[in-house]
Amino acid sequence: MTHQESLKRLKEGNARFVEDHLDGKLQDSSRRDSLIGGQTPYAIILGCADSRVVPELAFDTGLGELFTVRVAGNVANSSSIASIEYAVAHVGTKLIVVLGHQSCGAVTAAVAGGDNGYNLNHLLGHITPAMVASKENAPVNDIVKKNAELTAIELMNRSSIIKNAVDSGEVKVIAAYYNLDSGKVDFLK
Ligand SMILES: [Zn+2]
Repeated sequence: MTHQESLKRLKEGNARFVEDHLDGKLQDSSRRDSLIGGQTPYAIILGCADSRVVPELAFDTGLGELFTVRVAGNVANSSSIASIEYAVAHVGTKLIVVLGHQSCGAVTAAVAGGDNGYNLNHLLGHITPAMVASKENAPVNDIVKKNAELTAIELMNRSSIIKNAVDSGEVKVIAAYYNLDSGKVDFLK
């Protein structure tokens, strides 16, 4: 499947989710059996850990369809990048979606600033470039979108595996924004 076809499937699945018409297919025992030998997910999602933003539901997908990496603030750190590299290099997945979302707690915490302890400070540090690139007092949701866009670029800058795959035209990285209220995913750039 090309990255264009993958994106089309994600959009179709999200439209079903928004309209409360989930197919809910590919989640049963026969699907499990068919996947024992391996996986061929058609999209990689770098999403937030937020319980309200569940890629498999938001895109109406089942087992083996999405290679999902979740970390608060959907940031590109060494571990999330390495996970994505695995899917690009060894699984052959062609589409990478960095999925930010409305009212993200991690972005809100980054904006609030202060000392949040070693681990959270480290994580929030990955969101700082989006704050710097945004207007002063920009709404959190604007910074969320900027964070998704910059993270998409970061994935390429920090990974030769991802960059080479993108440069060859085979893989595409796209930023997106999930609306908590409607469930709709807006694809940014
Ligand atoms: Zn979040």
